[in-house]
Amino acid sequence: MATPTSLSTFLELRSRYLLTCYVKAEEGLHVGSGTPVGESDSPFIQENGEAFLPGSTLRGAMRSTLERLSRALFPPGSPRRPCMLFVRDEDNEGADCACAVEKTRKKYEADTGAMETALRKGELRLCPVCQLFGSTLMAARLKVGDARFSAGAKEPVIRDGVGIDRDTETAKEKIKYNFEVLDPGPELRFEIQVENAEESDFALLHILLQEMKRGMEVGGKKSRGLVKIVLTKYEVKYFDGARGHGLGEFLAGGYGNETTTAFERRLVDAFQQS
Ligand SMILES: [Zn+2]
Repeated sequence: MATPTSLSTFLELRSRYLLTCYVKAEEGLHVGSGTPVGESDSPFIQENGEAFLPGSTLRGAMRSTLERLSRALFPPGSPRRPCMLFVRDEDNEGADCACAVEKTRKKYEADTGAMETALRKGELRLCPVCQLFGSTLMAARLKVGDARFSAGAKEPVIRDGVGIDRDTETAKEKIKYNFEVLDPGPELRFEIQVENAEESDFALLHILLQEMKRGMEVGGKKSRGLVKIVLTKYEVKYFDGARGHGLGEFLAGGYGNETTTAFERRLVDAFQQS
């Protein structure tokens, strides 16, 4: 998986994989509304009366899930060890990524030309997680859409909520507020798009999808705000010149379809070779 980051990766569009994911949110799901402290403890937000999970929130959860798991797989000093976002340099020690060292990061952020040259020469390396999710040095290959409730999902039930003091976990009379309790069980649907995926991206996707099937925690800086989503199924569409259905075929006739089973076999292969 120690693939050099090639420039062509983001200068031309070679392939795109589109995964339509169906997830169930665990019960206890609630949507903050009119929170007293100006900060919702739910990752859901509301717009025109509709509650949804923003794609950016899902993406953040996916990234931190992969950071945790692949850091466990690749100990400090190993060639694929990923960095973590928003931590001090000391905590990223041993990561195999230009983003992990502030000085290097700042230097190349300020000089994109030098960065492109360094990438081309292989002098600059980005960890697999930064390659997939992007960093201040390179655009992301993976994008995530908002998760919306499937048509026919029950209307949210509005109830009174009692604010809980997050430090003491005791109910606080003064921060009583309303929130909406969503019937547990309705299905949410969202799309993951990956462009110009390399083998290392497929390997990470394998880890991610397996973890999402077991349940992935989303949002909430404190435990109360966490929502666990479980991937129940997904469908795959793609175009990929390397697989006989390229951009030309896509523009002429749309995406190619691949069964989830066949797609997963490829992900497993990429993972085992990494
Ligand atoms: Zn990185």
